[in-house]
Amino acid sequence: MALQITAQCVNCWACHDVCPNDAIYQDTPHFLIDDDKCTECLGDHPDPQCAAICPIECAIVDELGDALNPPGSLTHIPIEKIVEMALLPAEYL
Ligand code: SF4
Ligand code: SF4
Repeated sequence: MALQITAQCVNCWACHDVCPNDAIYQDTPHFLIDDDKCTECLGDHPDPQCAAICPIECAIVDELGDALNPPGSLTHIPIEKIVEMALLPAEYL
């Protein structure tokens, strides 16, 4: 059970220091999560801390590929407008 960082990541470092398990590390082209270390914060916090602080929608996904901050959740841009403006690849919608 582990989260993953996607190509949407902008390498802002925000998530790096909030992980209770030091599971997040810098890599190229973007940060990654060590799935042997990630516990989804169970036992440490009520919510995954990386996703709680990440400013980018769809940068962190669960094992099913579902974004913890889905399109529109942070910006509050209506989903139809996101599609219209092509702000995200179709697979994120
Ligand atoms: S969900 Fe929690 S344990 Fe997993 S990478 Fe994010 S902050 Fe670390
Ligand atoms: S907070 Fe989000 S955008 Fe920033 S480094 Fe972490 S995953 Fe990437």
